[in-house]
Amino acid sequence: MEPLYESKISCICCETIFITTRVRPSFKKATAVDSDFCGHYSKGTNPDFYVVRICPKCGFASTENGFASLTESQKQSYNTRIGLNWRGQSFSGERSAEQAMMSYKLALLTGQATDAKDRVIAGILHHIAWLYRYENNETEEKRFLTFALEAYIRVFETEGISLNNAKLMYLIGELNRRIGQDQEAVKWFSRVVNDKKIMDAAMIRACREQWQLIREESEARRLSLSSSSSQIVSSL
Ligand SMILES: [Zn+2]
Repeated sequence: MEPLYESKISCICCETIFITTRVRPSFKKATAVDSDFCGHYSKGTNPDFYVVRICPKCGFASTENGFASLTESQKQSYNTRIGLNWRGQSFSGERSAEQAMMSYKLALLTGQATDAKDRVIAGILHHIAWLYRYENNETEEKRFLTFALEAYIRVFETEGISLNNAKLMYLIGELNRRIGQDQEAVKWFSRVVNDKKIMDAAMIRACREQWQLIREESEARRLSLSSSSSQIVSSL
């Protein structure tokens, strides 16, 4: 069976019916998942490449988590900022890594033009960071992890701790850790571990593990520093 199949959807901006390519559920199984939920797929088809649906007529790019419909002013804002410059391009069929990147960047622009929810924007930014990770482009990956982190923090500031936000808090900690802000990371991990109201056992465990990892890494750094300074002393 082919991993890809086609389905028809209607554009919420211009109402054009278009074909979008999807990945069959049986091909969506990751062979490895990173600590910030980035999936790795060995079979060649990365389902994340097909998350963004793009209208070939007006360029409106969205994910399933986006708006169900648009207001007139959102449509106008989209058309003024992006739609009118859209030259028509089809994203159906198999997508290369480059096309996947373009699809997420279009989704980001679309989200910004229509004032999408921070949760949606954060998810898109995080996905862009993953695409750079697949390419081993560490500088761009960290840049987008930082943008995603800022958006996740805005989500947390709006929704707060009252909702079941342990996963969000874990992610804020983990993205801080990944961009080298260990102290901030520990602050978030310890909040999840120590807050008695949080019941999400998997996220409490994940926070403990990543907190431990920070301790081990800083201990390793301390040891290598002290061994290199003792080498300097002994070479004097
Ligand atoms: Zn459209």
